[in-house]
Amino acid sequence: MEMMTPIQALLNEKNGTEPIHVYYTFSEREKYIKNALDFLSYALDRGYKVLFIEEESFYEEIISHLHMMYPNDVLENILHQESKQFYLSSNRFNAEQNSTKLLTLISPLLEEGHRIMIWGQVLLPSQDSILSQLRTYEIQCDQFIAEHWLTTVCAYNGFITPAYIQTDLLKTHKYFMTDDEVTISGLYQRDYLQLINEQDKDRMSNIERENKQLILDNEKLSKAYELIARKKFEYWKLLQELPISILITKEHKVVFANEKALIDLELPSFEEIKGETVFNFIDLTNYTLRKQWIDTLDANQEYDLKEVELKLENGSVKTFKLKSIRTWYKNGEAVLHVFIDLTPYKMLEKKMIRAEKLNIAGQLAAGIAHEIKNPLTSIKGFYKLIKHGMGKESYYTIIDDELDRIEQIANEFLILSKPHTDVFKVHSISRIIEEVKTLLETQAIIKGNDIITSYQYEEELLITCEETKIKQVFVNLIKNAIEATSNGHIYITVKKRDQFVEISVKDEGCGISDDALARISEPFFTTKEKGTGLGLLICDKIIDNHNGTRKIVSKEGIGTTFTITFPLTKSPQPSIPVDPVLLSEQSI
Ligand code: ADP
Ligand code: MG
Repeated sequence: MEMMTPIQALLNEKNGTEPIHVYYTFSEREKYIKNALDFLSYALDRGYKVLFIEEESFYEEIISHLHMMYPNDVLENILHQESKQFYLSSNRFNAEQNSTKLLTLISPLLEEGHRIMIWGQVLLPSQDSILSQLRTYEIQCDQFIAEHWLTTVCAYNGFITPAYIQTDLLKTHKYFMTDDEVTISGLYQRDYLQLINEQDKDRMSNIERENKQLILDNEKLSKAYELIARKKFEYWKLLQELPISILITKEHKVVFANEKALIDLELPSFEEIKGETVFNFIDLTNYTLRKQWIDTLDANQEYDLKEVELKLENGSVKTFKLKSIRTWYKNGEAVLHVFIDLTPYKMLEKKMIRAEKLNIAGQLAAGIAHEIKNPLTSIKGFYKLIKHGMGKESYYTIIDDELDRIEQIANEFLILSKPHTDVFKVHSISRIIEEVKTLLETQAIIKGNDIITSYQYEEELLITCEETKIKQVFVNLIKNAIEATSNGHIYITVKKRDQFVEISVKDEGCGISDDALARISEPFFTTKEKGTGLGLLICDKIIDNHNGTRKIVSKEGIGTTFTITFPLTKSPQPSIPVDPVLLSEQSI
């Protein structure tokens, strides 16, 4: 058996014995429509008139049901008003206006002696003081209903009617109905049916203000959530697509790797490395840097951008710039590692250094030919004398010395032009300077310059370096000095300064203008007809690779001083001999 709707039960029970004013809060459309249909049927069955104030879509559905149950002339007893048009004018609920409208519609029918039932689905706009407007309207309705013995259902959508309004509506309606039940409202009191006093008004507007603030806060919050969600999405998209390698680790375990990281670090798919310890894929080859890196991470600190060599999972070694910063990943602290692959730049750099080296070697060749010619001439001369039986013992010593000199120059030249697979080793800086001096002395003399070296220290100064690279630096600097100077001095001074060795190359040449000074390290900046403009750039690179520094002071017309420093290496051996000839033999 079909259950009776609550409205049907109420109407049957009271059956015209009292005026009825129902506050109906509905939430299920189907049940709502059944209640409305029973209400209408009750009226139509008894020949009553019904003022049916209903939303368009509800009305259409209800009326199509009624068409199946009643002939058209019976349905004419229904006066339909569209909810929005009836209750709202320019989207506001106006109590006085709505009461008047109701009266205008009902009065003629009452005068004609009809019995009248009213069903209204009330629409609530979001407006100021809606509560007091509703209260006023419903009080007037309640009085009107009592006076004329009417049966009225005021229906409110339970989803959008705030609780504070619902509570108030319970005070102005005797009956409270839901989709399934009906009861007398415990809050209904005749006292409330006086018009609203000032105190009430204040109270209501307070409630409304708070409610409005809540709605605003809510809107702000949901906007903020939306923004956060969008930012989060954008952030991950950015990380994923950035053309820089990014890995995120949690307690040294990989939790994220972007596309570029998989490529640069030569990793298989992310799935295969997820959760594995990071050191399986990227291990710093340099023990000190590795320890520093791990210590920094373990101390919850950030690791500053540094150039490091990484041994990859497949065994290959690549150079990267590495920076590790703290971040947040899936509800926990994590570390985000940024890798910049320097391999292509390193290759270019190597090529440049080599090209400049060859260029210098080419330039040096002319000077060297000249240099070798002198001892050769004297050797030839003495050889002739000996051949013709005019030799003396001392000639052999001279020939020996000259041959040594030729050998020494040839050795230096070879070292510089040989394609080197250099390694870092401990070397005496003064020996290096001496050997470079040998190489350039002739060129200096051709221009009337004197190279004066001065070694100011007590113990031998040692640095850990790639020998040919450091030689290349000083060949560059001294060559520049020679080229800038005519008939002057070039002073080379080597000093100890704390944990550093300081080498200065001072000339009495043309000097460098301020404009030129700002640009001398730029690639291809040269003021020379046959210059490459790469010398200083490469010097800087090499000095940098050796953790050194370079300063320059220059005054036009007076001269230029380059000052270079390198960190000193403490040697376990007491000292290393500084005989340039002896050492140049070893370094072949
Ligand atoms: P290059 O020697 O091939 O010109 P460098 O990089 O070695 O290239 O030098 C760049 C420029 O810096 C030179 O052309 C010159 O103008 C200036 N310069 C370098 N060293 C000196 C110096 N000791 N005195 C005057 N100018 C110098
Ligand atoms: Mg140069």
